[in-house]
Amino acid sequence: MTGSDREQLASMAAKAKDAMGVETLDVLADRGYFSGEEILACETMGVTPFVPKPLTSGAKAAGRFGKQDFVYLSDQDVYRCPAGALLPRHMTPVEKGMTLHRYGDRASCAGCSLKSQCTPSIERRVTRWEHEGVIDALQARTDLAPRAMRTRRRLVEHPFGTIKAWMGHTHFLMKRLPNVKTEISLHILAYNMKRVMAVLGTKPLMEAIRA
Ligand code: SF4
Repeated sequence: MTGSDREQLASMAAKAKDAMGVETLDVLADRGYFSGEEILACETMGVTPFVPKPLTSGAKAAGRFGKQDFVYLSDQDVYRCPAGALLPRHMTPVEKGMTLHRYGDRASCAGCSLKSQCTPSIERRVTRWEHEGVIDALQARTDLAPRAMRTRRRLVEHPFGTIKAWMGHTHFLMKRLPNVKTEISLHILAYNMKRVMAVLGTKPLMEAIRA
């Protein structure tokens, strides 16, 4: 068990794909699941993820241009910055196992009238993961699916809100991971049973259990 959703997207999608017995699957998740490596892993196993990108730009938070203000031009392998300068690639370090390309142009930044809105350094650098095309495609399709994302929120957040309300202010009564896992499993089982009874009625449920 891990304490965060960030490394779970591909493994959860694989389980859902197996359970449904399908070759391809569209998966919708909230931004807590956003991870470039997980998104790439999904694509390699026939899963198309829809995940909003977290807004974590430090520059944007500080009132400067964020990465979203820079446009990647794939045919030239350069970024076009907000001042219209083309920033070529000039370094490719590897960090935490990820190959990252860095783009920038010191000469353009030196004479730029927008520099105070862009960077406090000598030049602005933009980093691009070697598989960032996968992220660009994900962002484009997620932006085109606002209705699906709203439906996901309605369907998925409702069970958690209901279960939390049932559990009350004490939340878990048990201590230690195996006990807490059992407690939450019972809550989820009770939720699913009540939901099936509300949607289908008790008779079809009993017939399905007997079958
Ligand atoms: S500072 Fe550099 S990267 Fe930023 S807008 Fe100006 S030229 Fe473009």
